[in-house]
Amino acid sequence: RTVYLNGDYLPETEAKVSIFDRGFVMGDGVYEVTSVLDGKLLDFAGHMKRLTRSLAELGMGNPLGDDEWLLAHRKLLELNALTEGMVYLQVTRGNPGDRDFIYPPEDTPQTVVMFTQSKPGLADNPQAKTGIRVISIPDMRWHRRDIKTVQLLYPSMAKMEAKHRGADDAWFTEDGFVTEGTSNNTYIVKDGKIVTRQLSNDILHGITRASLLRYAAEAQMQIEERPFTIEEAQAADEAFFTSASAFVLPVVEIDGVQLGDGKPGPVAARLRELYLEESRKSAI
Ligand code: PMP
Repeated sequence: RTVYLNGDYLPETEAKVSIFDRGFVMGDGVYEVTSVLDGKLLDFAGHMKRLTRSLAELGMGNPLGDDEWLLAHRKLLELNALTEGMVYLQVTRGNPGDRDFIYPPEDTPQTVVMFTQSKPGLADNPQAKTGIRVISIPDMRWHRRDIKTVQLLYPSMAKMEAKHRGADDAWFTEDGFVTEGTSNNTYIVKDGKIVTRQLSNDILHGITRASLLRYAAEAQMQIEERPFTIEEAQAADEAFFTSASAFVLPVVEIDGVQLGDGKPGPVAARLRELYLEESRKSAI
């Protein structure tokens, strides 16, 4: 693979970052993942907007302008001949030259890293037809989940727990309510109404979520933004989740309880189609 490091396009084996990089020793960095279909970037503007916000919340500026980010994304796609998959980007507070809790001076160059992940058939995930199984796990992450930081250890632990228990993913719960999935936003459908938790610092403000809710509203579908419990989800007609890399995927089992007839429902299927169709139209 050819990867991006601080303005250079290099073979992945030649891209090196300091052991003192704040991203490495402090988890002091943010990231974005943008999907690519037909060689085009989905929801790009949304991802750029959230990147700037995540950086600002951590007292950092954006090292590149939106146009420069777009050029870098496109160049990386071209150099890797990638038409279906993802582009990962990460910005850290850079290398202060030593380990210190205190932020380095503001003129310390940030570390900017990007790489592609090829996923042929990304839009034809067989799980869209079969659905996935999730378990619930207490949400023990920090309380600024609205910032897309590289601190992914707890979600990683939760995914491992799901795997050990024979499930595909985990949904986090806090104070009795579902917050979100390990790497996705969560929804249920009851009597045709889509229910998903409202935005706050408790969840990541999903770019796929924002687009999907807009498309669903335009299609006159009913949406309610409020928290829901695992029990309510188990008794719902359907459940699903959204993320940039998975789009919309149905959930057919929660903590061993099958939803309805155990098959993906029509609302999730329609929303997946709607998202793919509309986001392809606005892809750049
Ligand atoms: N919540 C969390 C915790 C995530 O990691 C992700 C994926 N980045 C999402 C939600 C979904 O966000 P998006 O639709 O922007 O990928």
